[in-house]
Amino acid sequence: MKNPKYLVFILILAIMAFFAGKVLLFANSEESARQAAVKVSPDNEVVVNIESGMTFSDITEAAGVSSSTQELLAATKDVYDLARIKAGKSILFYFDKQTGDFHKMIYQTNSETELILNKVSDIWQAELKTIDYEVRIKIASGTITSSFYQSALDQHIDERAIIELADVFAWTVDFGMGIREGDTYKFIYEERYRDGEYVIPGKILAAVFNNDGQEKEGYYFKEGVDADGSEIDGYYNFTGESLQKMFLKNPVNFRYISSGFTTGRRYVEAFNVATGHRAIDYAAAIGTPIRAIGDGVVTNAGWSRAGYGNLTSIRHNSTYSSNYAHQSKIYVKVGTKVKQGDVIGAVGSTGFSTGPHLHFEIVQNGTKINPLTLDMPSEKNLSKDKIAEFLESIKDWQKQLHE
Ligand SMILES: [Zn+2]
Repeated sequence: MKNPKYLVFILILAIMAFFAGKVLLFANSEESARQAAVKVSPDNEVVVNIESGMTFSDITEAAGVSSSTQELLAATKDVYDLARIKAGKSILFYFDKQTGDFHKMIYQTNSETELILNKVSDIWQAELKTIDYEVRIKIASGTITSSFYQSALDQHIDERAIIELADVFAWTVDFGMGIREGDTYKFIYEERYRDGEYVIPGKILAAVFNNDGQEKEGYYFKEGVDADGSEIDGYYNFTGESLQKMFLKNPVNFRYISSGFTTGRRYVEAFNVATGHRAIDYAAAIGTPIRAIGDGVVTNAGWSRAGYGNLTSIRHNSTYSSNYAHQSKIYVKVGTKVKQGDVIGAVGSTGFSTGPHLHFEIVQNGTKINPLTLDMPSEKNLSKDKIAEFLESIKDWQKQLHE
């Protein structure tokens, strides 16, 4: 028994038995379906993947800490509502390496913050903490051959960054109809890392999009913070004009259909005075979300006898209104106030329609006009006293985008 090697062997056996016991304990206390949700890592951390329908007490049970459920709920009460936990995410439970005591729990509430619970002198303390990412700046560029989306994926750009980029140009580039073969783009954006691992794209800082022979630029600028502490920021062209306009370029929410960022292939029928088709037809699958191109009030929402099928009309102001026809579903009512980008219905093929598409019209003073050629003025331009600061802040980006 005096042999130190023998003692070490006993110690290793004991540690192994301890961990094996822990795993068995979880396995025995749970149904087989729950077992898949629990992962015990070597550093004494238990991860419970939240499955749909799981409550917080199901999760603590899966982690083998059900006796702490009420204390955890009480500690978070004023900080975060644990009823809001979402399926698809996970909660981490930490156990002391020596004693095996449960002493810490972490739940990432969104991409910016996490809920951390620590047991300090036997009392659970909860706090919401901003996640401290390491930010790396990346430059990406490409030429579009068939689809903006595919081109960007080929450059190994994160899908989420591609969608962000499309959102920056939502008022100036029609990603459904306006993309052309040979269009080019270059953008500078943040990538966020945690513990050396890439997690999520951050802000798009600057971007240039050469679309159908026209150069569109966007630069991020933060003016400051408002009374609530939220950022007053936005994207501006190189003269300080906001990229935001009264109308979005495209009523079909291509955010949800990646194949939508194509070079004019989603074309069904264009605006054509000769044929009397004073609208644009956007091809999209049934169920694709349709968004309001601008703020307004719904003036019509229901079946149209004129062949439009399910039709929604929005009055934006005394000059403009817009119509959305052949919908499979309408989500608004007459009188509903809508905000720009709100989902108002879903693409369908109701009424006189040969296949799933959105028939989209813009009416100006009672006349249907071509939405593709309508160019609205910018909104929320930078105030004069901010222009100098803005121009200085974009200098380097401008150089990088054009070299
Ligand atoms: Zn049509």
